[in-house]
Amino acid sequence: MQILDGRKASQAIKNELKIEVAQLVVEGKKVPHLAAILVGNDGASETYVASKVKTCEEIGFKSTLIRYDNDVSEYKLLEKIEELNHDPDVDGILVQLPLPKHVGDENVINAIDPDKDVDGFHPVSVGRMVQGLPTYIPATPHGIMLLLEHYKIETKGKHAVVIGRSNIVGRPMSVLLSSNSNPGNCTVTICHSQTKNLKELCLQADIIVAAIGKPDYVTADMVKEGTVIVDVGITRVEDKSKKSGFRLKGDVDFENVSSKCSWITPVPGGVGPMTIAALMKNTFRSCMQKN
Ligand code: NAD
Repeated sequence: MQILDGRKASQAIKNELKIEVAQLVVEGKKVPHLAAILVGNDGASETYVASKVKTCEEIGFKSTLIRYDNDVSEYKLLEKIEELNHDPDVDGILVQLPLPKHVGDENVINAIDPDKDVDGFHPVSVGRMVQGLPTYIPATPHGIMLLLEHYKIETKGKHAVVIGRSNIVGRPMSVLLSSNSNPGNCTVTICHSQTKNLKELCLQADIIVAAIGKPDYVTADMVKEGTVIVDVGITRVEDKSKKSGFRLKGDVDFENVSSKCSWITPVPGGVGPMTIAALMKNTFRSCMQKN
């Protein structure tokens, strides 16, 4: 078994971006600018946004963090997005999900200018991705594709089983893996909460992408020898031995599955860092369209 090391692969991407940003500075051009909106103070969301902002600093991007209390009105959020849409210095707009229940995720996502939709959730971005046109690809599936590319994982003609059909991970992942590209060209089965024969399908998989949000859900008896495993899940489970009181667990029972598979992503240190690297790539791309 070998590790698909997201920390290493993302560092390589960040190093490349750092060089490109330094070059923009030398040429007196604008550097990429990511604006992040964070509502409330959910611990996980705080952590994700903080690492996105920190990565911007690391590679020389400008970033703006806009914070709101949990009771912010949808109107106020839409007003801010409109302002950012018209700000020529802002290249990428990111709204950290989930949003409070009284705010419509869809209304917020749809308000972002597709040219600044670096999270790739806007229907225009999704439609373009499905058609194989250049666009912003949602950061997590994009990061996974970059990870497969980095480790030169052979995907052509393979059977990929994607578990989870969310708009941010499972569904776009299934589209990308089935597209006529490299990585890509897989035969894809997409599974979800109503799938009846998940174990049987997983046993036929050459590649499994697990994006469920249930710790240790994919067990060794569901995996054939030599499978490539991408574990997207991140769940906080209680761990009194940790200062924080919790540790992160993936959707795959790493301890028992790892001895059977050919490649596997660890949690943490697998898909998470790649998601951030992909977001940075999207923001850079947006900036380059203006420079
Ligand atoms: P979600 O809750 O929106 O979707 C979960 C999916 O799992 C659903 O489509 C559902 O149908 C499916 N599912 C639920 N129970 C199932 C079952 N028993 N069998 C088969 N499928 C089942 O979650 P999401 O936003 O797609 O995130 C999934 C996980 O990935 C979460 O743990 C989340 O924290 C994590 N995540 C990680 C990153 C990262 O950067 N590493 C990014 C996004 C999400």
